[in-house]
Amino acid sequence: MIEYVKYWKGDIKLDDVEILVRNLNKTYGNIKAVDSLDFLVKRTECLGLLGPNGAGKSTTMKTIYGVSVPDECQDTDISIFGFHPRKDALKIKALAGIVPQQDNLDSELNVKDNLAIYAKFYGISAQLARTRIEELLSFMELQDKAKARVQELSGGMQRRLTIARALINNPRLLILDEPTTGLDPQVRHLIWNKIRELQEKGVTILLSTHYMEEAFQICNRIIIMDKGKKILEGPPRELLAGSIEKYVMEIHSAQRGTRDYQSYCTEYGLRYECFQDTVFIYSNEAVALSVLGDQLPEHDYHIRPANLEDLFLKVTGRSLNELQ
Ligand code: ADP
Repeated sequence: MIEYVKYWKGDIKLDDVEILVRNLNKTYGNIKAVDSLDFLVKRTECLGLLGPNGAGKSTTMKTIYGVSVPDECQDTDISIFGFHPRKDALKIKALAGIVPQQDNLDSELNVKDNLAIYAKFYGISAQLARTRIEELLSFMELQDKAKARVQELSGGMQRRLTIARALINNPRLLILDEPTTGLDPQVRHLIWNKIRELQEKGVTILLSTHYMEEAFQICNRIIIMDKGKKILEGPPRELLAGSIEKYVMEIHSAQRGTRDYQSYCTEYGLRYECFQDTVFIYSNEAVALSVLGDQLPEHDYHIRPANLEDLFLKVTGRSLNELQ
C-alpha cells in the first residue's frame, strides 16, 4: 500500500520524501534553539531555511546531518532517505554531501589531495577518483588551482572546494549550511548557478541562509524561521503574492513628518511600520504611494516592489538581517 505524508500543502508519497523532520526540538541551557519544527524535503526540490542569525537554522541542519542530538521528545522523528541520522550515519553519508558552515579543509594538502582523501574515504577506486576529481575541479572552476595548497586559496575558492568535496560521492542530497555567507557577489552568483545545475541533474538540496536574495534565487520553497520556530512556509513568489502588499515606500529619517504620513495612511487605509529611523508604507497600488511622496517633499523616500525582508518584518516586527 502506498503511504502518504503531510507536505506543506496537501499530502505526498512517503517514497518521494528525502528528509522528514517531525517535532524537532533542541535546547541549550535556557535557550530553545529549535522549537517544535516540522518539515519535509521532497526529492529533487531545493528547500531553503531562511532567518536571521540565531533563528535556529544551523542547529536544525546539524541535527539532520547527525552532529547534534535533538531533545528527547516522544513524537520526534527525523529521517533522511528513511534512515536515522545517528543510527544510520554511514548509510546517509554514502548518499548525501554536506557543506558545513565553516570550511574544514585540510590546509596542509593541496586542492586535488583534499578531494582524493575524501574519495578514498568513500572507497572510490583510484582510477574513478581521478576522473571524478577532474570533473569536479572543472565544475567548480578550480582547474587552475589543482596543485595549490588550501592556505593559498581565497575564501570563495575554499568554499567552492568544500562544495566539490561534498560532491565526490555523486550524492543524491546536498546539504549546505549558509553556503555563501561572507563571499563576494561574483562567487555567490557562481555558487547559485552550480546549485541550480545540480538541482537540474536531480540532486535534492537543503540549504540555510540569511540572504533573502539567495532564497529567492535558488529555492523552490522556503521556511522562514525565527527564534527556533517556523513562521512561514511556501514558494518565495507565492509567499510574496499571498502575504504582503505589492509595493513598499521607504521614508528615511521620517521623524519630522510623522504626522503627515500617519494621517495619510489612516485616510487611505495603508498599512505602515516603523523600524529604527525608517518608515515602511505598503500598498498594492504604486500610485497611492507616489501621491504620498508628492506630499512629503522634504523626505528622502523611495518606492520599490515588496520582498522577503518586508514579509519577515511584517510577521516578526524585526529585520531579517538584524543581528541578535
Ligand atoms: P542560526 O544558524 O539561525 O544563526 P543557530 O542554530 O546557530 O542559529 O543558533 C540558534 C540559537 O542557539 C542561538 O541562540 C545560539 O546562540 C544557540 N546555540 C547554537 N549552538 C549552541 C551551542 N553549541 N551552545 C549553546 N547555544 C547554542
